[in-house]
Amino acid sequence: MKLDQLVAWLRETQAERLTQLWHIADRTRRRHVGDDVHLRGLVELSNRCVRQCAYCGLRAQNARLQRYRMSAEAVVQSAWDAVAHGYGTVVLQAGEDPGLDAGWVAQTVRRIKSETPLAVTLSLGEREEHELAGWREAGADRYLLRFETSNRRLYQRIHPPRPGGDADRFPLLQTLRRLGYEVGSGVMIGIPGQTYEDLARDVQRFAELDLDMIGVGPYLCHPETPLADPRFRPETDSRDQVPGDELTTYKVIALSRLVCPRANIPGTTALATLNPATGRELGLRRGANVVMVNLTPPRYRALYEIYPDKVCVHEHPAACGACMEDRIRLLGRGLGSGRGDSPNYTARRGEPAGRI
Ligand code: SAM
Ligand code: SF4
Repeated sequence: MKLDQLVAWLRETQAERLTQLWHIADRTRRRHVGDDVHLRGLVELSNRCVRQCAYCGLRAQNARLQRYRMSAEAVVQSAWDAVAHGYGTVVLQAGEDPGLDAGWVAQTVRRIKSETPLAVTLSLGEREEHELAGWREAGADRYLLRFETSNRRLYQRIHPPRPGGDADRFPLLQTLRRLGYEVGSGVMIGIPGQTYEDLARDVQRFAELDLDMIGVGPYLCHPETPLADPRFRPETDSRDQVPGDELTTYKVIALSRLVCPRANIPGTTALATLNPATGRELGLRRGANVVMVNLTPPRYRALYEIYPDKVCVHEHPAACGACMEDRIRLLGRGLGSGRGDSPNYTARRGEPAGRI
């Protein structure tokens, strides 16, 4: 889709036109990835992080946060919880934590892969190529690494590199692809300084990268971060600034579905945080086909505070799963069975299409 068309959709306010967009996105979703909704078990295994991302509550400089790192035993137990709930995938997410050393992660992945039928998705930040290769060899199937924004200046401002390192996530996405991972990326919506044109370019980037998974969600301000300080925020004409609201998030989900029809696209937790009652459902009706259910042990959940007021922090994992399953059935959609690989990935690898 051309840049000006994308910008026009992102700025669209007419209810009738938007209904049209939701309809096309929903039809495209049904045709390419089917009606089933895949549930993923999310385990937030460490909130320790060495990075200083200006938007995130887990950043190293946030001294107010009590830090934790789960034991291998606890992570494997959470994976078993995913099996017990009937999910086909466990997503292991964390801050960029060198304490999760390469051998430990490989060993944990190996255990999960040998003891359970689960697909394993990793989202552990920017790690060395040999580490990513070792985890792939250990059996990890997928990797999520959002590029956050394709506006280089904005990105450099909000995502400082590691000392001596490169902050750029695009080369890493290529590395992940080369290593044979199913590759996911995405952006935040409404970052201070992000314009409509930036966001339109982000959506074009999804297509250029031929992503297998796309995660997009609103930017939510965390008070203990530099971006909460108006003096830190890049200046943008308020007419160009993208709002970090629900409607814009649905638009980006719908447009992502149109440019990457076979990708797996979740209705994200950040979206549900803006609208706990129906955010994820509306996402599922406007292009999404995946939902993450939080399986992090309850005592750690509140500590994984990327942004404040996250949903489903106090619920028991079993209750979260049952609640999501009911919501999906009410939409008239089925629950996915099996691993729920991205049809984009299976097609690229020339494998027979899975059940969709
Ligand atoms: N550390 C890994 C990384 O950065 O890729 C994985 C964990 S990180 C918390 C996962 C995602 O959370 C980031 O890619 C970012 O898009 C999102 N995130 C962080 N702070 C956020 C905020 N304030 N509002 C919305 N999303 C946020
Ligand atoms: Fe760390 Fe990821 Fe948060 Fe950046 S976004 S501070 S790398 S957890």
